[in-house]
Amino acid sequence: MQRNLKKLAIIGGGIAGACSAGLLSENGYETIIFEKNSGLGGCAGSFKRQDFIFNIGATTVAGLLDDFPVKRLLSKLNVLKLIKIVDPGIVIHTPKGVINRFGCLERTIDEINRVFHNKGNLRFWSTVYNTTFDILKFNYYHNFYSFKGNIKSIVRMKHIIFRYFRHFLISAEKGLREFLNQIDKDYYDFMDAHVKIVAQSNIKEVNFLTLLLSLGYPFTGVGYSEIGMGGLINSIAQKSKIQCNSEIKEIYKSSDRFILKGDFGEEIFDSLVLAFPIFENMHVFRDEKIKKFFEKYIHLNTDNSAVLVYGVVKNFHPTNIFHLLILNRPLPDTSSKYIFISFYPSSINGNEHITFTVSTHTKTSYWMNLKREDYDKKKKQLNINILKLMDKLFGIGMDKILLSFVATPETFYRYLNRRSVGGIPITKKNAFFRIPSNVTPFKNLYLVGDNSFCYQGWIGISIGIYNLLCNIYEKIRT
Ligand SMILES: Cc1cc2nc3c(=O)[nH]c(=O)nc-3n(C[C@H](O)[C@H](O)[C@H](O)COP(=O)(O)OP(=O)(O)OC[C@H]3O[C@@H](n4cnc5c(N)ncnc54)[C@H](O)[C@@H]3O)c2cc1C
Repeated sequence: MQRNLKKLAIIGGGIAGACSAGLLSENGYETIIFEKNSGLGGCAGSFKRQDFIFNIGATTVAGLLDDFPVKRLLSKLNVLKLIKIVDPGIVIHTPKGVINRFGCLERTIDEINRVFHNKGNLRFWSTVYNTTFDILKFNYYHNFYSFKGNIKSIVRMKHIIFRYFRHFLISAEKGLREFLNQIDKDYYDFMDAHVKIVAQSNIKEVNFLTLLLSLGYPFTGVGYSEIGMGGLINSIAQKSKIQCNSEIKEIYKSSDRFILKGDFGEEIFDSLVLAFPIFENMHVFRDEKIKKFFEKYIHLNTDNSAVLVYGVVKNFHPTNIFHLLILNRPLPDTSSKYIFISFYPSSINGNEHITFTVSTHTKTSYWMNLKREDYDKKKKQLNINILKLMDKLFGIGMDKILLSFVATPETFYRYLNRRSVGGIPITKKNAFFRIPSNVTPFKNLYLVGDNSFCYQGWIGISIGIYNLLCNIYEKIRT
């Protein structure tokens, strides 16, 4: 059995695994990523079909303005040059009109007043803006597993806790009433759409602070990777050793070390960073105490997931890359009336083509229990429904669509070992101190990614990675 005592093993090569590996390698550690799939990226990967490149799930990189953890992380890893910032970050199509979500507060308020005039808009949106910058640029310390950790976490976060205590305690609906009094149904849906895509939840289930941060997302600097999201992830992890097609099937603990087993054999490590979906990989933990520890959090795994339609359009030049469409009701076989559309310029044989990734929410249990025949039929129908919407919205014309196909939670399970791809929903029940931290009570066992602090996406995962570094830096070095 090979012993790799100086190495740090990272399981999973998504945003969390690749960025942790990148940052730790930058700091002089020898990291090795074990990835189940044939390539890195996870939900933020890319794939090729018929020579076209498609982004799998995540398409936006947010938090690209100065001092946000995403920008700090990507600058440190020297990959910022691969990202193009877009402004407006997202174009939102509501039944009452189109709202461009610009980075600038004043322009955004003008846009919102044009479609949803409200006397409270200036005060409300200024609060959204200021809160977003204050909270998301903060350096967090999150470790609630020891007396010392609890005290340190509270002391380090006291400024934020003190300032936003009330916003944290009151419901989003109460906060909205205080700022905007009466709001029109379409305005409510416009805000709910932000909560759905950022927090994987809805206004009724979140506190006021989560609502403000969800609405603030487009203020943080939104961009896309010019080499596809998967290309970006590969660049980030380039200094690490990467072992693809290496699913970890068992993790044992022997004294202070971890033994990883897979079809590649077995390897021993001193330190382990779990960057894979823990709830759907519970079977790999062979140490009872570790297993029991993670089982405490299993209720955080939800039935929420996504269904996606990918496609290629020829001779089409969209003016904006990211669009959020609000419908009156969900499409059949989906669970939300918000549809996110991303375009990505892809070139083949010198001809300009645009590929698209369209996503909306669905329930994992719904697709899991279908008979093969029904499953295929529903996928086909969903494909048609989405293409019709795209045609209506952008006037694309069906004859310009070269190719299109669908992915369901079952597709994600096959490739990425996870059906629920939304991460932990940011609800009142799943407050930040109730979710797993990036450190665990077990020496040298760490956790990053959207099953842990600080929830999903580039912004949440970057905050978690900085918390991980802050917690373990000294320990790893010794
Ligand atoms: C449809 C959709 C759209 C989204 N859009 C955005 C967006 O625009 N912007 C944004 O910031 N976020 C977005 N998100 C959220 C974001 O994609 C995720 O939060 C993030 O990619 C999760 O990264 P991760 O590294 O935690 O996990 P994952 O992406 O799940 O990566 C985990 C990796 O572990 C591997 N793995 C699993 N099991 C094992 C095993 N046993 N052994 C070895 N390897 C294993 C998997 O193959 C995978 O590569 C979106 C998510 C979805 C589903």
